[in-house]
Amino acid sequence: MGKAFNNDEAPIDVAVIGGGPAGLSAATTLKQAGIARVVVFEREPEAGGIPRHCGHYPFGMREFKWPLKGPAYAAKLVARAKRAGVEFSLNTSVVEANRSGLLRVVTSAGPKSLSAKRVIYATGVRETPRSARLVSGPRVQGVLNTGALQSMVYLEGRRPFKRPVIIGTELVAFSAIMTCAHAGMKPVAMIEQNTSVTARWPTALFPWINNIPLLMETKLVEIKGGDRVREIVVRNGKGETRTIECDGVILTGQFVPEASLGRMGHIKVDPATRGPSVDQWGRCSDPTYFATGNLLRPVETAGRSWQEGKQTGLWVAADLAGKLPHYEQKAHPVRVEPTLIYAMPQRIYRNNLDAQDVAGMTHVQLRVVKPIKGELIASIGEHVIWRKNISAKPERRIEVPIAELDTSTSSNNQGEIVFSLVSQA
Ligand SMILES: Cc1cc2nc3c(=O)[nH]c(=O)nc-3n(C[C@H](O)[C@H](O)[C@H](O)COP(=O)(O)OP(=O)(O)OC[C@H]3O[C@@H](n4cnc5c(N)ncnc54)[C@H](O)[C@@H]3O)c2cc1C
Repeated sequence: MGKAFNNDEAPIDVAVIGGGPAGLSAATTLKQAGIARVVVFEREPEAGGIPRHCGHYPFGMREFKWPLKGPAYAAKLVARAKRAGVEFSLNTSVVEANRSGLLRVVTSAGPKSLSAKRVIYATGVRETPRSARLVSGPRVQGVLNTGALQSMVYLEGRRPFKRPVIIGTELVAFSAIMTCAHAGMKPVAMIEQNTSVTARWPTALFPWINNIPLLMETKLVEIKGGDRVREIVVRNGKGETRTIECDGVILTGQFVPEASLGRMGHIKVDPATRGPSVDQWGRCSDPTYFATGNLLRPVETAGRSWQEGKQTGLWVAADLAGKLPHYEQKAHPVRVEPTLIYAMPQRIYRNNLDAQDVAGMTHVQLRVVKPIKGELIASIGEHVIWRKNISAKPERRIEVPIAELDTSTSSNNQGEIVFSLVSQA
């Protein structure tokens, strides 16, 4: 059975930073693979990550073959990890991550240092706060991201407002609608600055079902009020402005990986994903460190993050057994041209795997800035190594099979792989 972490015991084999679906699944897999000491460090009083405060369905179809609400799903993942023998250090923030797996953590008993043979970053994503969205107006109460709203509603039983406006139409915005319904709040509008809803159908029917006006091509420009939000000013595609009375603003989505630890430390952070730069086994620029789950790139579902964590657990176990390619081996850096936002992994080892080496990620993940139809091309220098016609929308996963990238044109196995998307419109 799992137990509370005690730093005086045997050395830690793998330290997992973050107890969300990805970290829990990596830790459980490592224990199941026979790794002796696996410790999850989680800053919250309980592990479970974001789903812990998403009090709605559907979570767990991939993991438990049954739809669960977020907290039940999180509790099942924690129970499974404990049964596998994972140790937990809760109320513990990792505040420094240094070379050789040396970590500095802060607990209620004060700071302490420890080390692990391997470290997995699994710190997830956060939504862009108001300060980074360039919305004018005074700093009034009642402006929240979805994550903060969900914590208030589901963990503290509070209702911060009654008639908010929801900004954005990514999947999480529909999670905000469900949170409002749960707490008896009635959103007065949902606002999207693009021409189409970002989340997939049938989620887009949610505002209609809940009788919430959906204003497309509309941008939030100002929040007005005294102590609290009183109204907002929005501008439509024709440049016309109008005010909407409301008592709260829910700023949803525009996710950013929670990579502060990496940025402050020694590992390389990719300016495109804003998460750690990794190879196809999730290895960071210091191969003692791996990264997994939504920290890798904004943004995927809990089920997908859980799946990635499981895979990372297998890779780290293989690495401890000496079955990953040596980190020094040459790898192709991966880059995207405008229209595409990012590519992950950012380094690909291609033609140099030994027979005993464990296979890594099967696909490169890409995202676009705006809806576009065109030809997606991968090239090394002048050579086109892969091409395909695609139709893509923002926040939708685009995957390119790594096995289909013909890197044989690059004699030294180091040529930069550049992805570009040529519009057909
Ligand atoms: C507000 C919000 C709502 C969402 N709603 C949904 C939804 O309804 N359905 C869905 O499928 N997906 C949803 N998502 C996507 C969500 O990111 C994934 O569901 C999933 O939680 C990702 O798992 P993860 O393990 O990568 O990260 P997380 O679940 O975010 O877990 C990361 C964990 O790391 C911990 N941590 C971070 N930094 C440190 C540190 N320095 N020291 C110690 N611990 C640390 C955090 O406390 C957290 O517990 C939502 C995301 C957000 C932000």
